[in-house]
Amino acid sequence: MLKICRRKAIVGAILTLASATLWRKIMTDTKSSKERMPILFIGHGSPMNAIEKNEFTESLSKLSSALPRPKAVLMISAHWETEGTWVTGMNNPKTIHDFYGFPKPLFDVQYPAPGDSSLAIDISSSVRDFKIEIDKNNWGLDHGTWSVLRHIYPEADVPVIQLSLDKTKSIEYHFELGQKIKYLRDNGVMIIGSGNIVHNLGELNWGENAKPHEWAIEFDEWVKGKLVERNFNSLVTDPLKSREGKLSIPTLEHYLPLLYVLGASGKDDKLLFDYEGIQNSSISMRCLRLT
Ligand code: ZN
Repeated sequence: MLKICRRKAIVGAILTLASATLWRKIMTDTKSSKERMPILFIGHGSPMNAIEKNEFTESLSKLSSALPRPKAVLMISAHWETEGTWVTGMNNPKTIHDFYGFPKPLFDVQYPAPGDSSLAIDISSSVRDFKIEIDKNNWGLDHGTWSVLRHIYPEADVPVIQLSLDKTKSIEYHFELGQKIKYLRDNGVMIIGSGNIVHNLGELNWGENAKPHEWAIEFDEWVKGKLVERNFNSLVTDPLKSREGKLSIPTLEHYLPLLYVLGASGKDDKLLFDYEGIQNSSISMRCLRLT
């Protein structure tokens, strides 16, 4: 009799715990679904933008008050290329200074935002058909991430994780993976792609009044047109079909973060351009938001 009572008590305790967990999940889901997070693409340009004040960095500083506060940020930076897809899973990601030949103050910058290892585990286990491995020791936050976030969240008080770019995959893969991470928007996670729509370092002009190259303007405008038309398919399949496209994307890594953002967008999202302009003749600083 005593045994039966004890078993009943144990089963009762398990059921209570299970229902409490379920209730917490329902409450969390209900709360987060009220505020679907916008998604951003930021054209980050030179690492010097991290410590300079200009029109572009001022537009970033204004963003935080225009955006709902996220539970965490998932960054897709042009500067983390890997074999296989990885997500950072450390609780205190280090600030990586992944550039050379810049002034010391840039190397002194630290961006001590916490990570979110449980979010990394959630992404790794929730995204089906794509293998996402968890990086616990290697990467951290590269300048594609912190040069942007230190203007948007200067207190470094929003947890940040990064998703890598698998350099062995097709352009389509990156768009499709963007579709798979869309669910995060309803869980309070803000997805930000950080790259540049036009990025040709071989055609840079450091002159103070450097004029943008014609081909850079044309390609940037072509991308803008496709975004406005919502012809995302063309942005996946056609960017390298024109001379302007080939000059603007000599390598893919700065273009690919845009495709994650487009993949994670919904048909009812409103499109806003937070900044546009060409720096140093061959870098498009176009920033956009889908909300
Ligand atoms: Zn870059």
